[in-house]
Amino acid sequence: MSETLNKILSKYTPQEAETIRQAFDFAQKIHQGQKRDSGEEYFSHPVEVAKILADLNLDYETVSAGLLHDVLEESNYKPEDLEKEFGTNIAFLVKSVTKLHRVSYGGDKGFRENFHKMILATAKDIRVVLIKLADRLHNLETLDGYKGNKERIAKEALEIYAPLADRLGMGEIKGVMEDYAFPFVYPEDYKKLLDLAASQMAENKKYLEKIKPEVEKILKASGIKYLAVNARAKHLYSLWRKLQKYDFNLERIYDLAALRVIVPDVASCYETLGILHKYWPPLPNRIKDFIALAKPNGYQSLHTTVFCENGKITEFQIRTPEMHLNADYGIAGHWGYKEDANPLTKKYSWLRQLAEWQKQNMTSEDFWENAKIDFFKNRIFVFTPKGDVIELPEGATPVDFAYAVHSDLGDKCSQAKVLGKITPINQSLNDGDIVEIVINKNQRPSRDWLNFVKTSKARAKIRERLRLIS
Ligand code: MN
Repeated sequence: MSETLNKILSKYTPQEAETIRQAFDFAQKIHQGQKRDSGEEYFSHPVEVAKILADLNLDYETVSAGLLHDVLEESNYKPEDLEKEFGTNIAFLVKSVTKLHRVSYGGDKGFRENFHKMILATAKDIRVVLIKLADRLHNLETLDGYKGNKERIAKEALEIYAPLADRLGMGEIKGVMEDYAFPFVYPEDYKKLLDLAASQMAENKKYLEKIKPEVEKILKASGIKYLAVNARAKHLYSLWRKLQKYDFNLERIYDLAALRVIVPDVASCYETLGILHKYWPPLPNRIKDFIALAKPNGYQSLHTTVFCENGKITEFQIRTPEMHLNADYGIAGHWGYKEDANPLTKKYSWLRQLAEWQKQNMTSEDFWENAKIDFFKNRIFVFTPKGDVIELPEGATPVDFAYAVHSDLGDKCSQAKVLGKITPINQSLNDGDIVEIVINKNQRPSRDWLNFVKTSKARAKIRERLRLIS
């Protein structure tokens, strides 16, 4: 464990490392003699959690809190004691994560309360949820040795923690979490997937190894100063989800073989795309420019699928090192030492929204109902006529869109033009739609709208207006 500690310490200034070391010693003393279900030293768990946080390049306070995250649970120490020892920030982080622990397994009600608390603490300091994610990630990694309800832990990961990581733009953490949880929640599907895809995936791996030097040669010859060309391993759970949509036909999964090309700047991304298309023809409608149009969780890359050597369908993802960091680490990758939570809250509008809810004093039940709608539903992205992206839950209607743009627009919304065609305001929108709202000065929200709107914002505004009018 001291080896792991040294690796962690090497990333921080001497002064910061001193605090981390202090947290290490403190936690080691408290967990002395405690064992995990697997028989391992308990202390190995907080150390691994701290390592995950350090690998995410998070600040020393987060890493220290990661080491300390279970000490309040396991001792008579009070948050005040931690505050004296480690300062307000670290004590706050530990206290918040501990609170989440206490109610964690109390059935559905406990779970909702827990989720509510986690989000409230997150709105105050995003680092709380990052520690919780690291904690859960390590518990999942070691789930085999756990003697409690494995399925429940794994299920929570699929339902809450992985989507949360995804919304924070932490694609790698999301993928790994899901893959750890998958066999515990759906053991039979997991086996079926391996039967179906394992040999294909092994074959792909060999193919990608073969094709990689060829890609490098082409890029070199074209004067592209690429930094890396890597095979991208498809995560099993996300492959499973995709297969469900495509009748379990592997041939319809176009990103099963994928290469990632990292180039120094944005101009080289587009240049690389052009060069690849010169050698291998692209499949129509599979070119995606997430650089010009980033996904709302911040993800950027160019994607294209080509008929590669011998017509083998291969996906390329082209991006800069910054985009790469962002794709894997998301919000954590943005962590700067001087940055407070504010710019992050600006970037992630849903965090802002959660902070709004916090002000409304909702019950945990209401909070959960709203979160289910706004947070965990699949998202679609639609455009204003000016090209601004509006993110909505699946099934959202022009009225939801109008309220997402502006309350006034919602109130006076009388018709919608979707892709130029007049469309009823209760019809579901599709991903990529361009939506124009036609307003009528005399229009008022109607009770009937409540039957079809999907966002909590539209619902709340309509209710508010109806109360005002009647
Ligand atoms: Mn823990």
